[in-house]
Amino acid sequence: MVTVNGRSYAAPRSPLVVLCIDGCEPDYLTCAMEAGAMPYLHATLGRGTWALANCVIPSFTNPNNLSIVTGAPPSVHGICGNYFYDPHAGVEVMMNDPKYLRAETILARFADQGAAVAVVTAKDKLRRLLGHEMKGACFSAETADADVLELVGLPRPSVYSAALSEFVFAAGVKLLATSRPDIMYLSTTDYVQHKHAPGAAAANDFYRMLDGYLRRLDAAGAVIALTADHGMNAKTDAAGRPNVIYLQDLLDGWLGAGRARVILPITDPYVVHHGALGSFATVYLPDGTGVDDIVTRLAARPGMELVIDGAAGCRRFELPADRMGDIIVISARDSVLGTSAARHDLTGLDAPLRSHGGLSEQRVPIVLNRPTRLDAGAHLRNFDVFDVALNRLA
Ligand SMILES: [Zn+2]
Repeated sequence: MVTVNGRSYAAPRSPLVVLCIDGCEPDYLTCAMEAGAMPYLHATLGRGTWALANCVIPSFTNPNNLSIVTGAPPSVHGICGNYFYDPHAGVEVMMNDPKYLRAETILARFADQGAAVAVVTAKDKLRRLLGHEMKGACFSAETADADVLELVGLPRPSVYSAALSEFVFAAGVKLLATSRPDIMYLSTTDYVQHKHAPGAAAANDFYRMLDGYLRRLDAAGAVIALTADHGMNAKTDAAGRPNVIYLQDLLDGWLGAGRARVILPITDPYVVHHGALGSFATVYLPDGTGVDDIVTRLAARPGMELVIDGAAGCRRFELPADRMGDIIVISARDSVLGTSAARHDLTGLDAPLRSHGGLSEQRVPIVLNRPTRLDAGAHLRNFDVFDVALNRLA
């Protein structure tokens, strides 16, 4: 038994593999099963667990992966995006350095207690956060070295490919067969989900590939617990053009050029598939500006889901108040938020924009290949997945 961030977890009796399938809207699984592309999962659900859960807001990759491995919301672990504004230093910085992490992980605590723990990620940006102070194997597909390539037996994949995620699953199967970790955490990339809707042929191909690896993990005796960091939705109009609300342009028009600062926490070096456009933004206002007035004016714009002052937003979404601005802005299901039109290069988008970040991408699956005792009517979060898999097996 270990206690981490106020929650206790029983040691696994069989090897536990937790998979975070990036951008896995529940419909991807149901559509793939209906199309016959996930025969293993379809057959397994008869004896396993299917539940829906909420992810943390912003519905972005890093906050949710860190919530899953800490069992806690961003107010506890501190990671509320890929990117944030440090008002003390006066700079906008990437948040992928472990120095920004404020909590221990379940993985590191189990490793301290002598459990064998392994982490495999698709992109390297998550690897250092997930593996922070953790003894055990921890590598990314993106930067796999010669030893990892030999273990996995696949070539190093392109960072923009379905193969980057397949490498993660293949590594999990090989690790289970060789060093048999007590706990593994496998985290993929949402390259396919950004391009293809649930039920599309390329999406079903991805989930067929996943299904084959799930079958092999199961055959090796693993308890499988699958969840997602966030969902994914089309963010386009009827003609397939992105619906973008350019917040910096609006605020520059109201307050003067450059007086407000718009932060898009989705911003990272890999913008080809989403153009740094998501459904969540935070705004820093110049001193003396009436927050309520700007909240009201932004909320009246078409395509908004929620505009709320920063303090209230941090309470509602359990976010670290020192890493959020004066206003939190969340766009509707079909819309995204940008800074200025001139600052987003959309030429790399080779498919109609699909993205995430808002409340409309909050619903994710929790799927296990074992029956569980879940409280009827329980409001599950994706970061309950370790609790479900370690404490609630039937
Ligand atoms: Zn993601």
